[in-house]
Amino acid sequence: MAKSEATDLRELLRVPPGGPLDLGTYDPRATPAGPRNKAAGRAAVTALGPELAGLQERLFAAATAGDRRRLLLVLQGMDTSGKGGTVKHVVKLFDPSGCRIRSFKSPTDEERRHHFLWRIGKQLPQSGEIGVFDRSHYEDVLVVRVRGLVPREVWSRRYDEINRFEESLAADGVTLVKCFLHISREEQRRRLLARLDNPAKRWKFDPVDIDERRYWAAYREAYAEALALCNPDHAPWYIVPGDRKWYRDWAVSRLLLEHLTELDPRYPPPSYDVDGCRARLLGERVKGRRRAG
Ligand code: AMP
Ligand code: MG
Repeated sequence: MAKSEATDLRELLRVPPGGPLDLGTYDPRATPAGPRNKAAGRAAVTALGPELAGLQERLFAAATAGDRRRLLLVLQGMDTSGKGGTVKHVVKLFDPSGCRIRSFKSPTDEERRHHFLWRIGKQLPQSGEIGVFDRSHYEDVLVVRVRGLVPREVWSRRYDEINRFEESLAADGVTLVKCFLHISREEQRRRLLARLDNPAKRWKFDPVDIDERRYWAAYREAYAEALALCNPDHAPWYIVPGDRKWYRDWAVSRLLLEHLTELDPRYPPPSYDVDGCRARLLGERVKGRRRAG
């Protein structure tokens, strides 16, 4: 544990700026810092809860006094990489009323008629909120590129468009935390089989997911390029080892903690006279007592 406390996980998991990126050098089973096993990992996530909730409350409180800041966690990864599991295990540490959780599916007909960032812009967190995107605008340079849903000249422009979009978000007070949940092809096979084996998980299975596995290499290439091309300091990508669910949850929690700690949101000073209000309330109580007696 000493290792995790001494090290900033952001430094360990950050995609090195300046690409190109070779995902082959990242081990999806790695545990580069922090807890060493499942029990310790689960306990560590629970232990982070109060601190995360406290920071979230300060972020929310600051917004009531005009602080525009908010955080947006972007979760990307192949099918079964644990985007939903991360939402379930990590986001539950926060007060749900301050969270805005959105997932992005294949665009609707209406969404398709707009620019690809149109539907994203409508789902951003408001001041003081923690936003979570389960898939995101990155699908428009991932599945769209791999499956050729638009011509190359269209998707290839999108990296710059994403960079400009994220730059404007950062300038507007959004802290972007982009996590690529990195699983191995073999682990995906195990998780898909587990979905078939468990009648309670079959609803999550889609036979199309098996076909998508044929495009594994193309997806890796598309991910590597997206992570390398859209990775400025104000909107960094982190590669979160995803084959061990407990490690993934701990790492994302820890990344959120580090970002929120750096934001250091403050409770706003009261805009009213605290002593005066206290005196009024105390006076009221004394009067009430006299009446009762
Ligand atoms: P799931 O996350 O399993 O519910 O699946 C959502 C599906 O929507 C995935 O297959 C994504 O690839 C797909 N999807 C999400 N965004 C887009 C997009 N912009 N264009 C095409 N497909 C998308
Ligand atoms: Mg799916």
